[in-house]
Amino acid sequence: MNLARTHPLAFVPTMGALHAGHESLISIARNYSSNVVVSIFVNPLQFENPDDLASYPRSIDEDQLRAELAGASEVWAPTMEEIYPAEVSRISAGELGNQFEGAHRPGHFDGMLTVVKRLFELVEPQWAIFGEKDYQQLFLVRELVAELQLPIEIISAPIVRDVQGLALSSRNVRLSSADITAAHVISRALQSASQLDGLSQQRACLHEILATEPKFTLDYAEIIDETTFELATLGAERTRALVSGWVAGVRLIDNMAMKVIKVG
Ligand code: AMP
Repeated sequence: MNLARTHPLAFVPTMGALHAGHESLISIARNYSSNVVVSIFVNPLQFENPDDLASYPRSIDEDQLRAELAGASEVWAPTMEEIYPAEVSRISAGELGNQFEGAHRPGHFDGMLTVVKRLFELVEPQWAIFGEKDYQQLFLVRELVAELQLPIEIISAPIVRDVQGLALSSRNVRLSSADITAAHVISRALQSASQLDGLSQQRACLHEILATEPKFTLDYAEIIDETTFELATLGAERTRALVSGWVAGVRLIDNMAMKVIKVG
């Protein structure tokens, strides 16, 4: 047990450039404990693209203030040496690590799980809060905790959006206001598809609406079964659409639960 911190504690891992999405995770953490640790660490291992890593927004002083105002009792920005001493073992995200988001970002989920496991070792939280915004990440972290039988409860937090529906993201600061307008096509497509009856209608609707925005380049738009993270088939109890693509050189991801028709 790390005696420098008061336990039990709730933990919110982030890469900084904090926005209202992160703040909502911190306020959810406060429901579990008055000891809330927020980490800020831009993890090079989960960036498959060096330009994305170099241009990732960094605003540590402002982050410190925002996190404290949102209810953090400690804002912790560890060094590379603290996180990655020579002997750190790498975690593999397995087959799911190469699908959906992983198919477009080779090694991303291995790097993400490696840092999350390391952060858990150092912080020893009783609760850790992750956003649904990174839905595949949330699923893989839950799997890691189950597999290693870590004594940590993973809490999921709903996606925080701007008034027109765009999911907040640290990378959004790289978008102009015209780009942001274009990026709204993602949540519009998700929202419209989510209301429809039937998987094929939902899929068709997603693709149809996403194709209307010339500034948007699609990586994938798929509907998965939430329990298995496999492509949804008829009869799935809970499904979710995942969308990923590019606007003005910025990679954007989003997802939304879809209406499910009970069969039989
Ligand atoms: P990041 O700093 O982007 O690595 O994100 C840190 C945590 O905040 C992750 O658990 C994300 O899923 C979560 N997060 C990021 N954006 C949002 C959002 N718009 N709504 C809710 N959670 C978010």
